[in-house]
Amino acid sequence: MKRGDSQPTPRHYINGRWVSGSTTGTSINPSDTREVVAEYARADRNQAEEAIRAAADALPSWSLSTPQRRADALDQIGSEILARKDELGTLLAREEGKTLPEAVGEVARAGQIFKFFAGEALRVPGDTIASVRPGVQVDVTREPVGVVGLITPWNFPFAIPAWKIAPALAYGNTVVFKPAELVPACGWALTDIVSRCGLPAGVFNLVMGSGREVGQTLVDHPLVNALSFTGSVPTGERILQAASARRAKAQLEMGGKNPLVVLADADLEQAVDCALQGAYFSTGQRCTASSRLIVEAKVHDAFVARLRQRLVDLKVGHALERGIEMGPVVDKNQLDQDLAYIEIARNEGAEHVWGGERLQRATPGHYMSPALFLARPEHRIAREEVFGPVACVLRADDYDHALALANDTPFGLCAGLCTTSLKHAMHFKRHADVGMTMVNLPTAGVDFHVPFGGRKASSHGAREQGRYAVEFFTTVKTGYMLA
Ligand code: ADP
Repeated sequence: MKRGDSQPTPRHYINGRWVSGSTTGTSINPSDTREVVAEYARADRNQAEEAIRAAADALPSWSLSTPQRRADALDQIGSEILARKDELGTLLAREEGKTLPEAVGEVARAGQIFKFFAGEALRVPGDTIASVRPGVQVDVTREPVGVVGLITPWNFPFAIPAWKIAPALAYGNTVVFKPAELVPACGWALTDIVSRCGLPAGVFNLVMGSGREVGQTLVDHPLVNALSFTGSVPTGERILQAASARRAKAQLEMGGKNPLVVLADADLEQAVDCALQGAYFSTGQRCTASSRLIVEAKVHDAFVARLRQRLVDLKVGHALERGIEMGPVVDKNQLDQDLAYIEIARNEGAEHVWGGERLQRATPGHYMSPALFLARPEHRIAREEVFGPVACVLRADDYDHALALANDTPFGLCAGLCTTSLKHAMHFKRHADVGMTMVNLPTAGVDFHVPFGGRKASSHGAREQGRYAVEFFTTVKTGYMLA
């Protein structure tokens, strides 16, 4: 193993101080598994509890801090992230494996999110409403929800923490942040920036380590008032049960099995672009990935032939190499899961079109070719989230059939439609049973200033991002006064 560069050892940040862990772990570059990206501190239950207590102690004063102070801190964080986006993007690409342009784009988005919530800190909404009783005044104000536990996944190690941390701080909450184990260096780099923006000790804390120990401590601890989680469905369900049992507020973003419908009247080149981007970019490791391509029979064969050609030409390789369009899978476990789904698809009789094989490159990494199958709606590959560069095409007779197929899933995060028909576009926007619709755009790739989230098994609780984030990160108080 070789150390990648002079990256400092990521440590926990608890009560305004950097502290070592009870043990250490390593994060590895998935593009070159000989390279250690970071040897990082791993917390145990005691350290997680220490961070929670620090956040609880800091809450009374921070919750009364002025909006200007919060805005200034968030603006400073956003400015530094934006100024260092190339360097931080390189770290992200090394640790998670998305291509450098994707990684730099993600970091820039994280910076913009902090800037956005710097503005929102100054716009905390409230109402004054006429009472039904004579002489009584009513107002509705928002207060911080309290200590929030933020549990994040590995696939967007800057943007997802940013879209939880920024509103949490903007609305006066204190934070304990637990990043995913595969991306501690990114979580640490973000914390390093947050640690220098003048927040009082304990307002923001970082603890790294396992979900089972550190994550679960956040979930179960009575001092944690709210939990915002992004990750897998089974973990999300466990968190929801535990949080509900002790009446903590919970916001969960989980899986997706998102459809992209291609109608016969679509611009076929544009539709193929949307499918390629949505299904395979970021190695398909996005909850918004278009893993079900539902194509009207009249253009089915032409669409499949064009998409296949694009997959044949797609450049897969080291995330930092110029011109690479798809990086490696994040780690061996995920690669094994992706390859297992390729086997399942073949065994269930889905027709293989292209890819799904391990690839060798100049450096040892978790590379695989993008996979495409023709499937039937009952196939597992058409129903279960793979979370890799694996998509299937389902044939639809017409628009109504396509819409029914699109909604035939336990998930409901997002849904795309490629068409030139205004009638179908409007109908689809209303009738797709999801939280986000995209017309003539890939399902993945969203704006940072509007709500993000889904329905059904994909999401639970208030929406994230945009000004809707205020719902989760504040609690409403109604005040009555006889004047
Ligand atoms: P993924 O497949 O993306 O790793 P997980 O749901 O396992 O999805 O992980 C998402 C986040 O949830 C990670 O930070 C992980 O450490 C954390 N996590 C895993 N298990 C638990 C748990 N039992 N309680 C709290 N957090 C957990």
